[in-house]
Amino acid sequence: MNIPVLAENLTKTYADGPVPVTAVSDVHLKLNEGEVVGLFGPSGSGKTTLLSLLGCILRPTGGSLRLFGTDVAGLDESRLPDIRKKYVSFIFQGFNLFPALSAYENVHLLLTLKGIKREPAHRKTLDMLANVRLSHRAAFLPRDLSGGEKQRVAIARALAADTPLILADEPTGNLDHANGRIVMELLKRLATEKGRCVVVATHDTRVEDLLDRILHMEDGRIIREET
Ligand code: ADP
Ligand code: MG
Repeated sequence: MNIPVLAENLTKTYADGPVPVTAVSDVHLKLNEGEVVGLFGPSGSGKTTLLSLLGCILRPTGGSLRLFGTDVAGLDESRLPDIRKKYVSFIFQGFNLFPALSAYENVHLLLTLKGIKREPAHRKTLDMLANVRLSHRAAFLPRDLSGGEKQRVAIARALAADTPLILADEPTGNLDHANGRIVMELLKRLATEKGRCVVVATHDTRVEDLLDRILHMEDGRIIREET
C-alpha cells in the first residue's frame, strides 16, 4: 500500500536573513493513516518549519516529499494552493478564527468556499459543531468563546474541510490542562475514526498518552523516535 505521507532528506534553509538558517535538516518521515504523531522539541528546533513543509506552505530547499501519491517537492509553486486545499488542514495555537464571524459562520464559510451549496453546508456545519460539542455556542463570536471553545471551532473547521492530513501547531499552547486534553482527544478521534493523519507540534507532555508516536526534534533534525 502507498504510504500517505513520505518525506526523505527533507531540508529547508531560510536564505533571506543575514545568515542562512537550516531549520529542517535531512528529515525522514512516514505517516500512516489513522495515527497521531507528536513533534516535540525546544523552541527553534524546526517544528513549525517542518509542519509548514508537510502542509505545502513552504517549499523545501532539498529532499523529497510525497503527499498521497503526489510528489509535491517537485511541483511548481502555482500548484501548491490546490494541493493544500485538497489534502491539508491547519490548526494553530492562535486559533485563526475570523473575529467578526460567529462559530457557525467560521465553519460555514469554509464549506461555501469549497463550493458546497448553502443547505448542505448548513447541515454539515451544525453536524461539525455538534461533533465538538459546541451546538450551544453556534451564534457566539470568537471573543465570547473561551480558549478551549475557540480551538474546538478551529477543529470543527478542520473536520468540515475533510482533508486526509491535519497539522496542528501547539494547539493546546493557550489552553489549560482540561481543555488541552479535550482538544487532543478530538484530534485522536479524528485519526482513529476517520483515518486521518494527524501531526501535532507540542510542548505538552501531559497529552503523551494520546500520541501514537513521538518524534523529538533538535536543530532541525529528528534525533529520536518513541512509540
Ligand atoms: P519551532 O517551531 O520548533 O520553534 P521554527 O521552525 O519556528 O521552530 O524555527 C526553526 C529555526 O528557523 C529557528 O532558528 C528560527 O529562527 C528559524 N526561522 C524560522 N522561520 C524563519 C524565517 N522565515 N526566516 C529565517 N529564519 C527562520
Ligand atoms: Mg513553532
